[in-house]
Amino acid sequence: MKVFVTGGAGYIGSVCVEELLNSGHQVTVFDNLSEGHRLAVDNRAVFVHASLSDKERLLEAVRDAGAEVIIHFAAHALVVESMANPGKYFRNNVAYGLNLLDAAVECGVKKFVFSSTCATYGVPEQVPMTEDLPLRPINPYGQSKLMFEQMLEWYRRIHGLDFVVFRYFNAAGASKQFGEHHRLETHLIPNVLRVALGLAPDCEIFGTDYPTPDGTCIRDYVHVVDLASAHILAMKPGKSGFYNLGNGDGYSVRQVIQTCAQVTGKELRTLEKPRRPGDPPRLVASAEKARLELNWQPAFSRLEDIVRSAWQWHQAHPHGYTS
Ligand code: UDP
Repeated sequence: MKVFVTGGAGYIGSVCVEELLNSGHQVTVFDNLSEGHRLAVDNRAVFVHASLSDKERLLEAVRDAGAEVIIHFAAHALVVESMANPGKYFRNNVAYGLNLLDAAVECGVKKFVFSSTCATYGVPEQVPMTEDLPLRPINPYGQSKLMFEQMLEWYRRIHGLDFVVFRYFNAAGASKQFGEHHRLETHLIPNVLRVALGLAPDCEIFGTDYPTPDGTCIRDYVHVVDLASAHILAMKPGKSGFYNLGNGDGYSVRQVIQTCAQVTGKELRTLEKPRRPGDPPRLVASAEKARLELNWQPAFSRLEDIVRSAWQWHQAHPHGYTS
């Protein structure tokens, strides 16, 4: 199929583009490189360097691509930053995203696959979390993603645009070629691996007084290649829906650091810091719906394997992408 991928130069987008191409699809990547990297774009894809805010350029690119499916990764995605600068999140993730929905309708795109997040749930009443839990985000990032989900639902009802929304839990790991490089790195696993590489002195632990067994936050880490495979399953024509993507296993910050120490064979110093604003204590997915309805079968569900793939990539690219 002809697939138009926004944010295909970013972390999850780059791996998804690689998997799409490996599966024989034709891919156009649309990215403004504000967060992404040119070298993260698979050289088999067509690349358009432009911004979602440029309505005309976007429409032209979707049309030129002959897009049958749009996969929309491009977004700002940092909880902490969104707590300091909510406008950046609502402008980019909601307002500019609307340009893409309009282009999809205008060009007769058949399916829209959207990268959403477990941050749409806020602090869940229960874990593992199912898709029918109340959606009450506690940070502007989660709110901006929820607003886009709601817009999609209206575009489906009014314009007949079919969609699949994926609520990612914590993406981690790497393919052989593409991995995680954020200019401002705030994520746990890459930060801990920086310590293992000798590029940072301590693993910082944000909050040790959460209501969890060891006092640190619990998250569900899911391999980026497994996320990519879900997108390929979602492109099939058919019904619209919302799906969690996670492994159903929760690991605390301390357990993640321990696993990284084990995989890297390094001793990792830790430093306890105050809580980070906007962090829910425990987020663990039930991805039963994706398994049953999309036949999604994660291939790398063990945290150790996820960390090992990230470690291989970071060792090969200690400073990330050079451009
Ligand atoms: N975290 C931490 N130290 C770090 C980075 C993150 O303790 O250097 C914690 C963070 O507060 C959260 C968990 O690790 O509880 C996962 O954070 P991350 O930023 O990786 O993903 P998020 O869940 O915010 O999307």
